[in-house]
Amino acid sequence: MNYLDDAVSLDRFVDWILSAGYDINRLSNHDEWFERIETKLKSLPDEERQQSALNILMAFKEPLYGGPSWVECTNFKKLVSSLDTLGSLPHLSESYIHKYLDDLSLVGMISKPTTMAGQHPIAQDAKASSITHVNAYAAMEAGADLKHYSYKLEELHPEQVDIKVDYCGICHSDLSMINNEWRNARYPLVPGHEIVGEVVAAGSMVKNIKVGDKVGVGWLSESCMSCSQCMQGSQHLCRDTKTTIAKSNGGFADYVRAHWAWAIPLPDGIDMSKAGPLLCGGITVFNPLIAAAVLPTDRVGVIGIGGLGHLALKFLKHWGCEVVAFSSTESKKEQILKMGATKVINSRSKDELRAIRGKLDFIINTTNVSLDWASYIKALAPKGKFFTVGMVLEPMNIPSGLLIAGERVVGGSPVGSPELISRMLDFCVRHDIYPEVEEFPMEEVNEALAHLNVGKARYRIVLKA
Ligand SMILES: [Zn+2]
Ligand SMILES: [Zn+2]
Repeated sequence: MNYLDDAVSLDRFVDWILSAGYDINRLSNHDEWFERIETKLKSLPDEERQQSALNILMAFKEPLYGGPSWVECTNFKKLVSSLDTLGSLPHLSESYIHKYLDDLSLVGMISKPTTMAGQHPIAQDAKASSITHVNAYAAMEAGADLKHYSYKLEELHPEQVDIKVDYCGICHSDLSMINNEWRNARYPLVPGHEIVGEVVAAGSMVKNIKVGDKVGVGWLSESCMSCSQCMQGSQHLCRDTKTTIAKSNGGFADYVRAHWAWAIPLPDGIDMSKAGPLLCGGITVFNPLIAAAVLPTDRVGVIGIGGLGHLALKFLKHWGCEVVAFSSTESKKEQILKMGATKVINSRSKDELRAIRGKLDFIINTTNVSLDWASYIKALAPKGKFFTVGMVLEPMNIPSGLLIAGERVVGGSPVGSPELISRMLDFCVRHDIYPEVEEFPMEEVNEALAHLNVGKARYRIVLKA
């Protein structure tokens, strides 16, 4: 293969590496690239080495930094110095590369860097990423009270950001994970996945957000970004996701880390003190409205008016729907009506459930306990849709005849894509939709968890860092 052309593209460079027998899938670290290049160059005859090295450098400008300003970056400098050690490359100095780039920009092949020499944004980010330790609260074993826990951060991956936590909501899933109800918890476990804060460090390949931006992180903090679900914008359905608290450390901490795509930029004017719960609780009940194509003219029902359910009520009210709330807590009734329900039905009353038979176009279940599901399916109109977002641990008993006779549909959904979270946040700011929150200082996290555990939260708890 001839790789001495001037027009070596990244694709050709990748072909070249592949033909040399290297596995280049999912490289996580640029250092690996540099080592492989160095090995390859060492194996070339002298006369080929020089031109190849230059072509490699040119091919690298795109994947590394997206523009010619890459020459100011640490990784580039490292590459140049590693090439220098090969010898026989007298012109491969930094000043030569600058000149090469100037020539290319003169003929219009590349655009000039907009940043001043020595002030490359990556260099600034690197300076900002000086966080080495995170102070957090963690459960050291299943069901334990949270304790102070400090952990060391690894080097920031080029596609990750570090976020200084301002507020973090408490979700029922935090309790489930602390108690290892789903058998996937690892300890020490740092809970917290309804995070809002500020980006304080950004890797070299981060897109769309920068240091200083306010962002939010929810249940997921990473997806593969290359599978079919990721490519079609359903990143929340990716099989290779990283959950914020099951596979990494969550937001009951001073800092948290996420892939840039999952650090959702917050719209201007958002109330940071109440926005956290929108990132998990909010999107969990918002996604089904889109998935089930709920119309403003629909009659809808919400089962369970707690952290998730009260947000569903608010969304559906602003959607324009007639909203029926199913709740068995008499003391909540007045507030439920105030939050947007048209009517409250006592879910323990068979008569009240019977009275609504065949009326609702959409029902969302937010509870995780076993209920008389058949009564709710009967409440659906023909072609009605029933969605559960509550993780009911036992199998749900749903008679097939009820589904068949009225073409009724049963479904479920987990959180939502980064794009939908972003749209939801815009919707919330536009209509002033926020959860009802009770604020606790982060230091009182155990008191806050106990408050949630006994069912006293009205309706969502937020910890202030
Ligand atoms: Zn959650
Ligand atoms: Zn994926």
